[in-house]
Amino acid sequence: MIIVGGGIGGLTLALFLHRAGIPCRVYESTPEIKALGVGINLLPHATRELAKLGLLDRLGAVACEPQTRSYFNRWGQRVHTEPAGRSAGYDLPQYSIHRGDLHLVLFDAVKERLGTDSVITGHRCIRVDQDADGVTVHFADGPDGRHRAPARGAVAIACDGIHSAVRRQFYPDEGPPAFAGINMWRGMTRRKPFLGGRTHARVGTLATGKMVIYPIRNFPDGTQLINWVAEVQTDVAAKNDWSAVGRLEDFIGYFENQTFDWLDIPQLFRDAEMILEYPMVDRDPVARWSFGRITLLGDAAHPMYPRGGNGAAQSILDADALVNALVLETDVEAALLAYEGERLERTAKIVRTNRSEPPDVVISIVEERTGGKPFERLEDVISPAELDAALERYRKIAGADKASVNR
Ligand SMILES: Cc1cc2nc3c(=O)[nH]c(=O)nc-3n(C[C@H](O)[C@H](O)[C@H](O)COP(=O)(O)OP(=O)(O)OC[C@H]3O[C@@H](n4cnc5c(N)ncnc54)[C@H](O)[C@@H]3O)c2cc1C
Repeated sequence: MIIVGGGIGGLTLALFLHRAGIPCRVYESTPEIKALGVGINLLPHATRELAKLGLLDRLGAVACEPQTRSYFNRWGQRVHTEPAGRSAGYDLPQYSIHRGDLHLVLFDAVKERLGTDSVITGHRCIRVDQDADGVTVHFADGPDGRHRAPARGAVAIACDGIHSAVRRQFYPDEGPPAFAGINMWRGMTRRKPFLGGRTHARVGTLATGKMVIYPIRNFPDGTQLINWVAEVQTDVAAKNDWSAVGRLEDFIGYFENQTFDWLDIPQLFRDAEMILEYPMVDRDPVARWSFGRITLLGDAAHPMYPRGGNGAAQSILDADALVNALVLETDVEAALLAYEGERLERTAKIVRTNRSEPPDVVISIVEERTGGKPFERLEDVISPAELDAALERYRKIAGADKASVNR
């Protein structure tokens, strides 16, 4: 099997294929696998899959495990707190982790289990052809101008992310990803823990700027690396590149007066080690991922807003589902169709829900009912039952509700 793209989905797929005894090789465009990005949340529906690969201890050693998720309005008033991960009764933990740490845990496991030559870097796929016996994956010449020989295999799985070259081959008129009119500034700040050091916090709404803040690394001196994302509505899309550098002055103004007794937000932003800027983009769900011996996986199949801890999680769930289908079906084309049948509609629902009713919808409900003003008694604004129902709705759609995960 040929895996195009050695990101989170591609490397997880390599590990699941290896576990099932199916040989594979990963072709990655970048010259080197490096720790890139900022924080990612792995909810129990994703850690359940990574546990099957025996990676929980390695991940736990480098990640933070939040115990609570808290929702605040723009005034820093608490709207809701709920237990997270094992504290909420899940059998598996929730991990908040640097994307680079997750990537390197996967990469190390692939090298150990499949061999160091199982990931071929510096190979940017430009096209995949197929015939009755297999696929031929073609690559662009290397940056040094040297020709890259095509690779031959039984099946090609495109895990080449939101700008997938293989997806473009099947959907040539699709155009660039759809911009939602929201830019995200993402950063990491090392500081002392806030709210006890095990809280995943969401603050405010898009109307005035919103934030997601959580720790992703513990240091021996008691400090933590705090990951934060600030979202602001704007007509001008940032460059659609996960590594584009952002500027504090472009967004700090929205949050200048948000100094709460539990966290000084402007200071958090000012002290950042790095700031990246990324537009909120996704793509409309497509009708097919599988075309004969070629299929799509992860962001190549269903790019979604990076909300609710689902971007990475759904690529991990895809990998497990695809390998299950390949094990059950002897005919590979039928297996790829079975995988698509299992995953396409489920992920399309998450794409749509992330647009219309993201997981922080409870803050929007409260801000709407209070006219954006501080409240005196939360129970006069919304009942605990209504809050729980709104949050559970999102978890069910993402397959992250407790009953599904523990089962
Ligand atoms: C550099 C980077 C940083 C990121 N940072 C964050 C973050 O901070 N927070 C967040 O929520 N999400 C981040 N993401 C996205 C996140 O990893 C994905 O949304 C999610 O994990 C799904 O994984 P994926 O494997 O489908 O895609 P990705 O993890 O994006 O992996 C795609 C891989 O394919 C490779 N590739 C692309 N085109 C080709 C090609 N033509 N031929 C061969 N290989 C190719 C890419 O280099 C990459 O390694 C980042 C992605 C990247 C690439």
